[in-house]
Amino acid sequence: MRFPLTEDEEAFRASVRDFCARALPPSLKEKVEAGVDLDRADYVGWQQTLGAGGLLCGAWPKSHGGKGWSALQSYLFDEECSLAGAPWLLPFGVNYLGPVLCEFGSEEQKRRYLPGILDATAFWCQGYSEPDAGSDLASLKTRAVRDGNHFVGTGRKIWTTMAHWADGIFCLVRTWAEGKPQAGISFLLIDLKAPGVTVRPIVSMEGRHHLNEVLFEEVRVPVADLVGEENAGWGIAKFLLGNERLLVAEIGKQKRTLRLIREGLDHLRDRGAPLSASPWVRERLAELDARLMALEWTALGIVRAADSGAPSPASVSMLKIRGSELEQALTEFAMEVLGPAGLHYDPHLKPGNANPVELRRNGVIARLLAARATSIYGGSNEIQRTIVARALLGV
Ligand SMILES: Cc1cc2nc3c(=O)[nH]c(=O)nc-3n(C[C@H](O)[C@H](O)[C@H](O)COP(=O)(O)OP(=O)(O)OC[C@H]3O[C@@H](n4cnc5c(N)ncnc54)[C@H](O)[C@@H]3O)c2cc1C
Repeated sequence: MRFPLTEDEEAFRASVRDFCARALPPSLKEKVEAGVDLDRADYVGWQQTLGAGGLLCGAWPKSHGGKGWSALQSYLFDEECSLAGAPWLLPFGVNYLGPVLCEFGSEEQKRRYLPGILDATAFWCQGYSEPDAGSDLASLKTRAVRDGNHFVGTGRKIWTTMAHWADGIFCLVRTWAEGKPQAGISFLLIDLKAPGVTVRPIVSMEGRHHLNEVLFEEVRVPVADLVGEENAGWGIAKFLLGNERLLVAEIGKQKRTLRLIREGLDHLRDRGAPLSASPWVRERLAELDARLMALEWTALGIVRAADSGAPSPASVSMLKIRGSELEQALTEFAMEVLGPAGLHYDPHLKPGNANPVELRRNGVIARLLAARATSIYGGSNEIQRTIVARALLGV
């Protein structure tokens, strides 16, 4: 049963599929599907290919170099890229900072920063969270004090994805310490090569380095890099988080994971019989299929609603909860069917040198461990449940 799309939407989907089939290097697809740790060049190379094809920032307004895609088109684009086996589309410049600059940036900021995002020559990361400010973001303490034509920034950000590869960080900083915490926050763009910036690695439990701590010691930031008004950063932060959560269920990635599990099952046997014929496996597959289809229909309904007005925050929160739970359930199922054989992980496996069974097994444990974080980042599930409860129960 497929969600009904218009002819134009189907044609759009087909055009993205064709592009990926032509432009995605097979060696990159193999790395993605084998769960090999990708490097900076893998991500940037693919984003530059999309940029050259005019597809990277399709959701941006036409006046700023985009194609003015609807939310539904953005969803279909994301899904088709994932199904094709493309790397995660880094959202920091494309989906977060770019739309912020289109909406709130000065003409100078647009001229200076948008071209590098459009062609993927600039690499941005997101500096929101701090050691004592995650769910309660408004309590952030990194401060920036005005000194002539500069702000002087001091403080510490944490869990900054890919800061070690990035050129710049968009940061929430405290510029006023009086009154409501939300009222004293500003949105600054900071050059990560500026004197006083230190990026320290955090290795996550699957053994990968993609997270970091970013320290600022009296870093001088030109006032020209303040986005919007001073102390008006909270509104910009919320605008950005709205964009962050809409695509969070990653339906394409979940479909790809389920397909890889199915293909992997073809190589596994249980006491001589194909494992895919075992009743418990069939039952779990049917359950996961049903959950994925329910999530897809919900996501598409919400995305359609986004095109005719803002979707309710509670519906987006629901998507976040169910999407992260499904990702965890899929990776747990993959591990269950493999048993101890799923424990092996070679982050540098060369797909060309591995047999199909090795390829399918590789990365299962890394995906399972990485998926634990899906119910934390992008706003933890506990916080999302509170949003849903408040909306439904009026508490
Ligand atoms: C893989 C990964 C990548 C990330 N990337 C980035 C990034 O690039 N940039 C960035 O800025 N941040 C990033 N983050 C940080 C992420 O946004 C925070 O981890 C998240 O907001 C939760 O904050 P916290 O870790 O401080 O946990 P806390 O806020 O301390 O929460 C701890 C626990 O308490 C619960 N809790 C807290 N408050 C409440 C409440 N009011 N009611 C009920 N339960 C509550 C939470 O749900 C959680 O289970 C990333 C995190 C991860 C795991």
